[in-house]
Amino acid sequence: MKIKAQFGMVMNLDKCIGCHTCSVTCSNTWTNRPGTEYMYWNNVETKPGVGYPREWENNDERKGGWHVKDGKLQLRAGGRVSKLLNIFYNQNLVQIDEYYEPWTYDYENLINSPEKDHQPVARPISQLTGEYMDITWGPNWEDDLAGVHETGKRDPNMRNLDEQIKFEFEETFMMYLPRICEHCQNPSCVSSCPSGAMYKREEDGIVLVDQDTCRSWRFCMTGCPYKKVYFNWKTHKAEKCTFCFPRIENGQPTICSETCVGRIRYIGIVLYDADKVLEAASVEDEKDLYEAQLETFLDPFDPEIQKEARKQGIPDDWIEAAQHSPVYKLAVEQKIALPLHPEYRTMPMVWYIPPLSPFMNALGGQVDSLSPDVIFPTINQFRIPIDYLANMFAAGDSDVIRNVLEKLVAMRSYMRSVQLDKPFDKSILERAGMTEE
Ligand code: SF4
Ligand code: SF4
Repeated sequence: MKIKAQFGMVMNLDKCIGCHTCSVTCSNTWTNRPGTEYMYWNNVETKPGVGYPREWENNDERKGGWHVKDGKLQLRAGGRVSKLLNIFYNQNLVQIDEYYEPWTYDYENLINSPEKDHQPVARPISQLTGEYMDITWGPNWEDDLAGVHETGKRDPNMRNLDEQIKFEFEETFMMYLPRICEHCQNPSCVSSCPSGAMYKREEDGIVLVDQDTCRSWRFCMTGCPYKKVYFNWKTHKAEKCTFCFPRIENGQPTICSETCVGRIRYIGIVLYDADKVLEAASVEDEKDLYEAQLETFLDPFDPEIQKEARKQGIPDDWIEAAQHSPVYKLAVEQKIALPLHPEYRTMPMVWYIPPLSPFMNALGGQVDSLSPDVIFPTINQFRIPIDYLANMFAAGDSDVIRNVLEKLVAMRSYMRSVQLDKPFDKSILERAGMTEE
């Protein structure tokens, strides 16, 4: 057993209000230099939608990550095989306009305009070319413009076009998906890098780029299925979310967590068995990947694990931190947080509590003193379809989502009854596989 400590994050999606404060504070802190204008190490996507970069979940050619082929775990596009084939041309690379062409405004015209009948206009100017531009695309475009997105392509989490049309026009729903680098246990960006510049830190699992070693190959960008590596077009080096390691090393949370208006983000350390990661990532059936990843995590309360961790050099305060980790509690103990697209097989470490909303609507405004027979069937009437969430967080396994939603419904019902001092049917908790503790 090789024990490693790993930072992770859980985001509770019911609490995200889509304010983008996280993206702005991250951007102000880390991507305020020339060449980084188009980068959002943290971005927030409106779903359903095509995301940032455009179609990142939707393009099989450039999907990145891993797949099982001939019984073996192999890199998809951007990996070593593609590197050999495309040694001079990384053909699956995401292009700048798929993120968006960064712009500023013609403030000169605004500030120095002579007096006239109409207000002066600050027209958008491309930060790449310095020319005036028409803006037709940007991050989170669906939220800003609403309606059907211009590409006409579908969100891959929808199963077919009929379903998309039905949801878009008849049963509209939306949710927000904030995204950072997943700091994966099995990072395909690291494996794709021909120069050895991408690396996963031994001590805490944070994935970083060594700027001196980066040789501009950009296979990490193609190899990452979450499209969370960016290319600085001034320095010609890859850049990415650093999990705010300089802040973490000084006992502070990541800037996105500290400034999150909805308080949706929980940071913590987990201990895992690194010897189990490749085996877990290689399970044949995609639907087994979630459980396989859970199997890699170790119980920080187990004295044998503690002893072995100490022997392998994990400091005592890290073991203690793992015991108090909200990531361990929400993802491993309570099993209410789920990995984003586990089918990419990178074993991501940013997990999500899927959204319930609008729960009260489905219950006709009533949530207290209800029996399980009333509460649980309402899950089928939730506005956000279970299959949609299952395609995003459970490789299509709707039972996994249903189980999480049952727990969330049971918890909310229980807490309401405690706070309002109302009777509570304890079989609600039992049916969701929970206890009062
Ligand atoms: Fe690498 Fe982050 Fe992409 Fe995972 S999400 S493959 S760690 S860049
Ligand atoms: Fe959501 Fe928090 Fe970001 Fe606001 S700051 S968009 S609530 S994750």
